[in-house]
Amino acid sequence: MKITRGYKTELDVNNKQRTVCLKHAGTARYAYNFGLSRKIAAYKAGQKVPSAIDLHRELNRLKQTELSWMYEVSKCAPQEALRDVDRAYDHFFRKVKLKKQGKFKGKLGFPTFKKKSKGIGSFRLTGVIKVFSDAIQLPRLGKLRLKEHDYLPTSDVHILAATVSEQAGRWFVSLQVEEEQAEQATTATTAIGIDLGVTTLATCSDGVEFPNPRSLKQKLKKLKRLQRAHSRKHKRSKNREKSRKKLTILHARIANSRKDALHKFTTHVCKNHAHVAIEDLHVAGMLKNHHLAQAISDASMGEIRRQLMYKAEKFGTRVVVIDRFYPSSKTCSVCGYVLDTLDLKMRVWQCPNCHTLHQRDVNAARTILAASSVER
Ligand SMILES: [Zn+2]
Repeated sequence: MKITRGYKTELDVNNKQRTVCLKHAGTARYAYNFGLSRKIAAYKAGQKVPSAIDLHRELNRLKQTELSWMYEVSKCAPQEALRDVDRAYDHFFRKVKLKKQGKFKGKLGFPTFKKKSKGIGSFRLTGVIKVFSDAIQLPRLGKLRLKEHDYLPTSDVHILAATVSEQAGRWFVSLQVEEEQAEQATTATTAIGIDLGVTTLATCSDGVEFPNPRSLKQKLKKLKRLQRAHSRKHKRSKNREKSRKKLTILHARIANSRKDALHKFTTHVCKNHAHVAIEDLHVAGMLKNHHLAQAISDASMGEIRRQLMYKAEKFGTRVVVIDRFYPSSKTCSVCGYVLDTLDLKMRVWQCPNCHTLHQRDVNAARTILAASSVER
């Protein structure tokens, strides 16, 4: 089976290379904003909205005169950025259509302009890309050293593109490849139900709990403190810039520790079970409840599902998603009795019908598993 996947790793760039990377990211940002504003203008004027190819041609003409600085960077950077505009623009109108048909209930967001203040961003390169054990060779940028050796695949893959991005002062490359994946026959035979949680990351029907990483809580506390301090600094002051840098670094650390916990959890589940049942949580709807919002976005339900789906394919696991209106917490997993209400604070409850004492989350996970077996 052929799959497309990414390999992301940190670059070890020197000052000269950093400058070239910044130029490329800047050009990509410029091209993206150029494309978006041209599309908006054409749309408003009732003209045909230009495609990425039209825009690239237009940009190439301008390159000969006022945008001559663009010759310093690979032509891929603006070209790929224009493709991204195309995608973002089409994606928006596809969502609008779905919303009209009632098939999409989330928020609609028109593509926004990229601001340097929001981050340096990234750029994508195609063409001749070579991977060595300790370096990667990219068009126009030359050989860049890698912090981790032997991680990027050097053989047996077809390289599609490389994306270079900046995050909190560090530079990364993500290699997009197409590779042959041998379907792993699972030796696991067990079935498991998962209740995705707020206080705990997830609870399984066999009683195993996956807590949120402990370090996350501490980091969130620190974040609150930093944000308060940041808001007190004078605008455009040196101190504000300093605290902004600190904040970006902390944000990146929080995201990393969260991602790490999610990966450990999803790999464990898919590797050890042949059948996995989860609930289809309406994340956008739940985020309206502000008390839960922080905690839920922390648990990143959407990301958990995404990871489960692709890892399930890798391990040959079957993932069943249960309807989001299924009353998993309120249903007794032993006799099927359904409670009228169950307060969010009630961690333990007793079934009035069969008198079983239930741990709220474990029971929910068991009910989810039972419901998925019916669909099986
Ligand atoms: Zn019962």
